[in-house]
Amino acid sequence: DAPLLEVNNLETAFDIDGKYYNAVDNVSFKVKRRQVLGIVGESGCGKSVMSLSIMKLLPKGIGKIAGGEVVFEGRKIDGLSEREMNKIRGKDISMIFQEPMTSLNPVFTIGFQLQEAFFNHMKISKKEARMKSIALLKSVGISRPEKIVDEYPHQLSGGMRQRVMIAMSIACQPKLLIADEPTTALDVTVQAQILELLKEIQEANEMSIILITHDLGVVAEMCDEVIVMYAGRVVERTDVETLFHEPKHPYTELLMGAIPKMDEEVEELSSIEGIVPSLKNMPAVGCRFANRCPKAMPECSQITPKLAENTAGHEVACLLYETSQPREGMNV
Ligand code: SF4
Ligand code: MG
Repeated sequence: DAPLLEVNNLETAFDIDGKYYNAVDNVSFKVKRRQVLGIVGESGCGKSVMSLSIMKLLPKGIGKIAGGEVVFEGRKIDGLSEREMNKIRGKDISMIFQEPMTSLNPVFTIGFQLQEAFFNHMKISKKEARMKSIALLKSVGISRPEKIVDEYPHQLSGGMRQRVMIAMSIACQPKLLIADEPTTALDVTVQAQILELLKEIQEANEMSIILITHDLGVVAEMCDEVIVMYAGRVVERTDVETLFHEPKHPYTELLMGAIPKMDEEVEELSSIEGIVPSLKNMPAVGCRFANRCPKAMPECSQITPKLAENTAGHEVACLLYETSQPREGMNV
């Protein structure tokens, strides 16, 4: 079965004061059909930049794809024109974000905005679009959709707005949904309901999802495979069970420690000390996690660890593992 999406050696660069820096640095992954792939890391790790790169929604004149390729259903899409890309967005690949209030237009009704999603890709009448909108709202668990369809975003709760966003994103039955921190702004109970809904839709529509999150709890709930990103690079990749039972990268281990336990009253998340280096301060060689890593060795700031399979189906980029050492005779 050919993958639905392939990202090969992607590099996305941002212009800062006239110089380009890689926010996504040589990242490769595949999304299979009906698969939920998690992309995990703290903010500033390049997760969102990656999704904007796939959608070709990078801020103009600031961000650009500097290398590699994005292949969707066997077709290279990173070089497509805006017009061609518009045919794909919403129809084949769609996206939902963290804060629905910023993605929904406050001056139009829910129904109007849902209908737009149809009109972009289908030739249907207004009446049909309205009926479809009501059915869609119902399918994402909104009660009294006939009423909600005529309401404005501010009249809905955060959870309802995220349901509306999900409805819009699946209006044309995309094959791939990119969900970027879809539940981060919501309280825990609503978060669980939204994840449940996404899972149901994913199964019913046989859709693939790229789920971007900083929250390993969400990953455990939702994902089949996971890639862990740090400072623009993939540092670990495997299936979800293996990741939780046998994390290999020190960064992943620390992220695990930052998961709140359901039965504990956590005042503050135990977070990892230090911060992700900014683009401008990214070290030129070595492991980008070196300044925060409790297991760092002197060579970690001199040798760049290679992402490589360490055990079957489990890749890691860390010099604690033989497989990440550069091969002899190779310059790093
Ligand atoms: Fe830590 Fe070194 Fe591994 Fe980087 S390469 S994660 S600094 S041990
Ligand atoms: Mg982000």
